[in-house]
Amino acid sequence: MSETRRTGFYPGSFDPVTYGHLDIIGRAARLFDRLIVAVGVNHAKSGLLPVEKRLEVLDAAIAPLRERTECDIRLAKYTCLTVDAARRAGAVAIIRGLRDGSDFDYEVRMAQTNTTLDPEIETIFLAASPTTRTISSSLIRQIAEMGGDIRHFLPMEAAEAVREALAKKGE
Ligand code: ADP
Repeated sequence: MSETRRTGFYPGSFDPVTYGHLDIIGRAARLFDRLIVAVGVNHAKSGLLPVEKRLEVLDAAIAPLRERTECDIRLAKYTCLTVDAARRAGAVAIIRGLRDGSDFDYEVRMAQTNTTLDPEIETIFLAASPTTRTISSSLIRQIAEMGGDIRHFLPMEAAEAVREALAKKGE
């Protein structure tokens, strides 16, 4: 790989991946030669989908995008600080999506903290697209728990994984 290739690092919980995340991934893929989509593993918070399932679903969801882009999109998981994981991946920037004011307040604080920890790694914010900006993984989990139809908000494989995880939880 030549040294001029630029790597971006898109971290998140992706529990589950949504059309909002996929919008950010598709747009970030236009900015970088390589994009690492990384699932942050939080041992204190297990979430709904097991991490391996989140990765499996992400892999299926980004398959069509991989066909259309020159960008080398890879998946990873990490347990360390995001900024450390980004540095180890050789990334020049962390990508985050911004939906609204509450994302903004939280994300700017995180970005500034990460800059203190590693000034070499920039955070780049992509504004959510109008058609997907209301989507959030937590809302999807709530809708699904109450028996609502989540298929508008996320790819089929992801919706199926949520359904299975909730059925297992209810056993
Ligand atoms: P985290 O727990 O790190 O916030 P998420 O999986 O919820 O993980 O989100 C990962 C990133 O994707 C965050 O930057 C979040 O703001 C962004 N994101 C989530 N949903 C959307 C959306 N609908 N549109 C744009 N960005 C989004």
